[in-house]
Amino acid sequence: MKAIIITIGDEILLGQILDTNSQYISRQLTRLGAEVADILSIADQREEIWQWVDYAMKQAELIIVTGGLGPTKDDMTKKVLAEYFDTRLVMNEEVLRWIEKLLENGGMRMNEGNRSQAILPESAKILYNRKGTASGMWFERDGKVLVSLPGVPFEMEDLMIQSVIPELQRLYPHLHLDYRMLKVYDIPESELALLLEKWEEHLPEGFSLAYLPSPGFVKLRLTAKGDQVFNLDARYDSLKETLEGQHYTEGENGGTERELGELLMLKGKTIATAESCTGGNIAAQLTSIAGSSAYFRGSVVAYANDVKERVLGVRPESLEQFGAVSEPVVRQMAEGARRLIGTDYAVSTSGIAGPTGGTAEKPVGTVWIGVAGPERTIARKFVFSFTRERNIGKATMKAIEMVIE
Ligand code: ATP
Ligand code: MG
Repeated sequence: MKAIIITIGDEILLGQILDTNSQYISRQLTRLGAEVADILSIADQREEIWQWVDYAMKQAELIIVTGGLGPTKDDMTKKVLAEYFDTRLVMNEEVLRWIEKLLENGGMRMNEGNRSQAILPESAKILYNRKGTASGMWFERDGKVLVSLPGVPFEMEDLMIQSVIPELQRLYPHLHLDYRMLKVYDIPESELALLLEKWEEHLPEGFSLAYLPSPGFVKLRLTAKGDQVFNLDARYDSLKETLEGQHYTEGENGGTERELGELLMLKGKTIATAESCTGGNIAAQLTSIAGSSAYFRGSVVAYANDVKERVLGVRPESLEQFGAVSEPVVRQMAEGARRLIGTDYAVSTSGIAGPTGGTAEKPVGTVWIGVAGPERTIARKFVFSFTRERNIGKATMKAIEMVIE
């Protein structure tokens, strides 16, 4: 599926700010399996917005727009989009109350500017912004989707993670991209390519193999797109067979933790873990790296609910209301471990590793992962597989990847 990103704002064109929004969005869309065809940065002007939105709607199936949603005169996006999608701007009472509450929590009172933020296109689906007063808007026409998000990066990112990505995953379940990585040591790239030549020739459509050479090793990334993601593991196994006799480590337990270690070391930051379903596996992976004492400080394996409560400070109401495998619980676990152990970051897991214990709502393989940092806490849900070993391994890998992000 083709996607186009449009960032709106005179500041970008004047060179006053760097457009980081499009980088963030294109990374997320690529990961979902979409093909970002264009990234456009344009001025806060009616004609510009109209012209490029129209271009994008003709060229792509998914368009993500950021910026220009503020209450000031120079912010045009909402008005132009309402016009483009032929809908009225109306006061949305629910959003008004939402903004009121948001301001109240921040100790502020509603003014005319804030009020106008609740005037929204009637036909758009509204994406509630937890970090600011500009709502996201989701428009659909002829099977195409245009999402308009605020320009402020942390607001845009929160809306992407909370609303846009989950919705896109629901809407395009086939649109998916997955990959496996491994590192092959002590062999030049050219020789490795020769070794894999035959195997690569037989690689079906939907798969691709990338060589990423570094001093001392070559990283191999096997990527599957669309329906081929279901055949990825089999292909990956056959790749490993072809590599027999070579010295290699698998990305899941040989690469990412090293990358994370290097990153933490570089930034002088520390990390802790609060683990339920992974039972200390993340801590084990992190400490498998020589020199990890520079950044890894400790871990709490909180398998039982009362340990989550007493040691990590998870609220009993959250456990009762949402269950141990839930967003509020992993958030509180990560924040609790960060506080308790005194680190810059903490990562938490809670899931149903299997093989039994799943429900219709939370099948075996459901894992929530939380990452608490100095600025914010994020949490994401994954549904892995039916085998316990794989669930633990995957949750460990994803947790480490989420911290790297
Ligand atoms: P607000 O309601 O806060 O005004 P908005 O949707 O109107 O939100 P803009 O006015 O376009 O957003 O941008 C607000 C701020 O967000 C900018 O001053 C800039 O610092 C940042 N910003 C906007 N667009 C981008 C971008 N593409 N990349 C990075 N930062 C951006
Ligand atoms: Mg603005």
